[in-house]
Amino acid sequence: MSVTPLTSPINISQETTIPPLLGASVAELSAWVQQQGQPTYRGKQLHEWIYQKGVRSLADISVFSKQWRAELAEIPIGRSTIHYRSVAPDDTVKYLLQLADGQIVETVGIPTDKRLTVCVSTQVGCPMACDFCATGKGGYKRNLGRHEIVDQVLTVQEDFQQRVSHVVFMGMGEPLLNTDNVLGAVRSLNQDVGIGQRSLTVSTVGIRDRIRQLAQHHLQVTLAVSLHAPNQALREQLIPSAHSYPIEDLLAECREYVAITGRRISFEYILLAGVNDLPEHALELSRRLRGFQNHVNLIPYNPIQEVDYKRPNRQQIQSFVQILQEQKIAVSVRYSRGLEADAACGQLRSSNAGNS
Ligand code: SAH
Repeated sequence: MSVTPLTSPINISQETTIPPLLGASVAELSAWVQQQGQPTYRGKQLHEWIYQKGVRSLADISVFSKQWRAELAEIPIGRSTIHYRSVAPDDTVKYLLQLADGQIVETVGIPTDKRLTVCVSTQVGCPMACDFCATGKGGYKRNLGRHEIVDQVLTVQEDFQQRVSHVVFMGMGEPLLNTDNVLGAVRSLNQDVGIGQRSLTVSTVGIRDRIRQLAQHHLQVTLAVSLHAPNQALREQLIPSAHSYPIEDLLAECREYVAITGRRISFEYILLAGVNDLPEHALELSRRLRGFQNHVNLIPYNPIQEVDYKRPNRQQIQSFVQILQEQKIAVSVRYSRGLEADAACGQLRSSNAGNS
């Protein structure tokens, strides 16, 4: 077959190098069709069929000649298949998506009044092994390609028959260990799929130097940092990577991020009863966060099997909120959706794939 791969091809099997068309810009697609001896405008058509019409096989692009379609038939666009789908009573839908190499990732579609939010995974599994998170318990397999991230959004859009308005990079994996593909997906979701940058949120536990590097891109996306503790001793207890990247260094980088981008950071703080939810923790957290633009998002713990942390009750949560408010820290509480489908924050795990 005389098809030239796009730049940065993904080696899917040893024999074939297949271009990941999904995630490519109009310019990239136009360059690619040109290499196939086609006129440049075919790139725009290809773009429209991939992103707007959501075509799953290039052979179905009826505006292309029969002969070319036959040649293209073997080139995958980079779409996954839905392996399993479950709907929670609050209408949150959890998907297990099967990728070209057979790996499974989780994606969650979260409908609210006017919004449709997708929670995307960035890795198969996760190497960070945070104590309270189910994903880390299953270990790490590999990074997702940018097409595999964009695919999750198109899949939810197609299934809901509704445009996706928001994307949160809060599924399986640590986005800043896969920065190139995450940035590629951010570009594509923004420019190809048409989702505003401000409606995209990248969540990280914090990887040394990566937050500063992200700032250099001057994006309008929201950065969420999973802080979860007000001091080094407690953070280390919950998050193994905190040993080599202390909270002081992380917060210094966050301050730099705010200074460079002018955008506030959203700090996520999981509430574990009796562990990090006491009044002294709220006060210490306020002291730490004073003096730069930020917002605290409290996430009451969602239970997972392996550990016996407890979710605080409403009164405990409220008193934590009140202390932060008194200290003039902007705060909100995120009551996770999708709990009944094991689709809430921290409950995603690839091992569920076997239970479908
Ligand atoms: N690796 C990224 C994104 C993954 S998870 C990060 O750490 O930010 C998105 C959020 O869910 C993170 O803040 C994560 O710490 C939180 N989370 C993990 N396990 C949880 C659980 N059991 N209950 C509530 N939130 C959890």
